[in-house]
Amino acid sequence: MFVRVKKAIPLKELANHLKLNEQLLVDSNRDKRNRTIDENEIICIPDAWKKYIQNNLFVDCEVNQTKSSELTTKKPYNSVTLEQDIEKLQLQYPFINKQVIGYSVLNTPIYELTIGHGKKKIHMNGSFHANEWITTSVIMHWFQNYLEALVNDHDLDGQSCIDLYNDTKLSLVPMVNPDGVDLVLNGLPDHIEYEPSLLQMNDLSIDFSQWKANIRGIDLNNQYPVKWEIEKARKLPKAPAPRDYPGDAPLTEPEAIALAELVKRSQFDRVLAFHTQGEEIYWGYLRKEPVEAEEIVKEFNKLSGYKAVRDIDSHAGFRDWFVNDWRRSGFTIELGIGTNPLPFSQFDEIYRKSKGIFLAALYM
Ligand SMILES: [Zn+2]
Repeated sequence: MFVRVKKAIPLKELANHLKLNEQLLVDSNRDKRNRTIDENEIICIPDAWKKYIQNNLFVDCEVNQTKSSELTTKKPYNSVTLEQDIEKLQLQYPFINKQVIGYSVLNTPIYELTIGHGKKKIHMNGSFHANEWITTSVIMHWFQNYLEALVNDHDLDGQSCIDLYNDTKLSLVPMVNPDGVDLVLNGLPDHIEYEPSLLQMNDLSIDFSQWKANIRGIDLNNQYPVKWEIEKARKLPKAPAPRDYPGDAPLTEPEAIALAELVKRSQFDRVLAFHTQGEEIYWGYLRKEPVEAEEIVKEFNKLSGYKAVRDIDSHAGFRDWFVNDWRRSGFTIELGIGTNPLPFSQFDEIYRKSKGIFLAALYM
């Protein structure tokens, strides 16, 4: 929300007077960092702070107040509802940064959200695989809970969220494969160009609920340049398909490229890729993983009950590539149990078991 400053004051001083968290206030007004706010200037604050700033000498609240509509992140997300809710989150929590890290084949933006002020850079992503769209909901829901705890200065499971905010920089890409998710949830897109090939790949069925790949029939999590040739040789599809086809070469697809470029730019210390299903966590890759990976996965296992699996015979995945090329910790978390796509009715159980993993990824 927006507030009007009644008299000129440096932003940090204003935070002190209002007893609001200085870092969150500064990060909500990045362009005004380290300077005095002029009389009558408008600044942003998190909506939740409204209750702390009633009747005070320094600010008037509710200038052009946008309706802070009730935001429910506990729902299936397609690319449109994700974009809408990201905008709502940004209005409620103006310290969130949003970047478009690339565009899908159908030109849908792929968003990265970042928050935090620390040195430890942690990245999480979901919906690499289209029929695993529930992972986007779990990420968004956990993020909302983290944000709420932050602005209200609450702990989450005994962890001070503001300390985590100051120690870490969190990067989230909630939906890596927006075209695929839209295909699974909404059916055929309005793109004449892709309709015939999609139907052909899908055995002429209009039921795309099992679709895992991107809109061109390439499995985005088989696109990374680490032993890609092994997967290319042994995966059964030899042409684009609803699942498992690694493409004609590594990193041909814009969604996979966007994530690879993000990793190169951001130099994350740790990545978590959320998939479904199996209640397992893959944490090793050809013994290239650092020692800390084992400690971290033990904590994940303790909190979630998910089984820690060091070795699986799989290559060319996002996490495989990250661990191999950077020698840093990467985890694939297989949320829930059953047959993909997991029904949304599993959400509460998945969330209950996995929420500790998100938090531990920050404090470990
Ligand atoms: Zn998957």
